[in-house]
Amino acid sequence: MIPKGVGCCLAVKREKQRERDKKQIHKIAFIFMLGLALPVFPGLVNAPDRTAADLPLYSEVIIAAVGDVMVHSPQYKAQYRQETGTYDFTNNFRFIKPYLLRADLALANLETTFGGEAIGYSGFPRFNTPDSLAGALKDAGFNLIITANNHTVDTGINGVFRTIDVLRERGLQAIGTRKPEDEKSYIVKDINGIKIGFSAYTFETPRVSGKKTLNGIIVPQEYEDLIDTFSYQDLGAGLPKIKERIEALREEGAEFIVLYLHWGEEYQREPNRAQRKIASTLANYGVDLIFGSHPHVLQPIEYVQSDDGSKATLVFFSLGNFLSNQRYERLKKKYTEDGAIVYVEVKKDLHTGEVFIAGFSYLPTWVHKYTKKQRLVYEILPLNDTLGNFEYYNLLTGESIRRAVNSKRNTVNLFKKPPLPVGQQARALPAAGLERSGEEPSIPPPDAATK
Ligand SMILES: [Zn+2]
Repeated sequence: MIPKGVGCCLAVKREKQRERDKKQIHKIAFIFMLGLALPVFPGLVNAPDRTAADLPLYSEVIIAAVGDVMVHSPQYKAQYRQETGTYDFTNNFRFIKPYLLRADLALANLETTFGGEAIGYSGFPRFNTPDSLAGALKDAGFNLIITANNHTVDTGINGVFRTIDVLRERGLQAIGTRKPEDEKSYIVKDINGIKIGFSAYTFETPRVSGKKTLNGIIVPQEYEDLIDTFSYQDLGAGLPKIKERIEALREEGAEFIVLYLHWGEEYQREPNRAQRKIASTLANYGVDLIFGSHPHVLQPIEYVQSDDGSKATLVFFSLGNFLSNQRYERLKKKYTEDGAIVYVEVKKDLHTGEVFIAGFSYLPTWVHKYTKKQRLVYEILPLNDTLGNFEYYNLLTGESIRRAVNSKRNTVNLFKKPPLPVGQQARALPAAGLERSGEEPSIPPPDAATK
């Protein structure tokens, strides 16, 4: 008889393991049969003198991530539908949805809150967005939503909790904040047999009378622990707390650790000293992958090595704006319209159990804002595909085409592929379907049928 609770979970786990083992055996059997069949066609291949146990066997996960999803006041006004009296954001994501669905899991930073209609919707400086954005994010293919950023408490602590509720109601998981009754603000997910731990942190704004603030708003002391933050003024205290979190993720079985960090300086295309210090400390802690956001522009991709050279952490210092109204005309800042979907391919060697990054790629994106029938339209464009199909993607003016072309060029120039650190090369494998070399990665055209 299976005891209740733990035993039951163990039984389920064992059953899942058995299923995985069965799948593995099927894979091995298939490859072995392929080995037997191939010598029939002697021109094709030399029959390998190997047993099935020697053959490489991998499990694979593709993680996609984007930067800041922002909703300024002109945006939610543009998404209002007179006919229904509701807000609908789905058209913002219509062109990039197939590219998000290519991944096993997709992450985005929600740089706003769902504080509810009763307190009034608002944009900068205190963001409160209609709940329907959550449904649009889910529909676009996102799974994990980062809720730890400098706008987390823009609609107060109730807004923090309500945001989590709204996301959960739509089947999305909030990372970086939790409600008082929740145990965790982080998660370990088993995807294709690889256990991946996700956690998110944001920088705090300077303390007021010793109290934690975000966007200058004091976080009620009894709720401080519900938002995952660190202070640039006290990294000596903040970083060990992140280390404890990493240990907690590992205790829960995480074989691969992903941190999403809200950090850096706005509009700076290079990481600052604090970002570099945090990244190298996290490399020492054994973090595998870091996604960054907050600067509202893209920053470079680098492998950051641990002090002893044993670990290379893949760091996307800033993923820029995925959606916003930060236009050149308004801010006079270049690059705030540019974003990217980045894809990281994580593999597990099923013989050795080793989990590692096998490759990564990216798709440059750009927010196209235009007017149609006297109404503003915002559409995120997948630039690799867009530039050959202007009309399909509603790029109907010379100016919009010029800006889209410029955006792609700027992103490709910034996102140069960093070479894998010495010692890591042997582990990286050719990644099917992901561009691994050259300066202009291309994502194959979306194929909805594959998902
Ligand atoms: Zn921010």
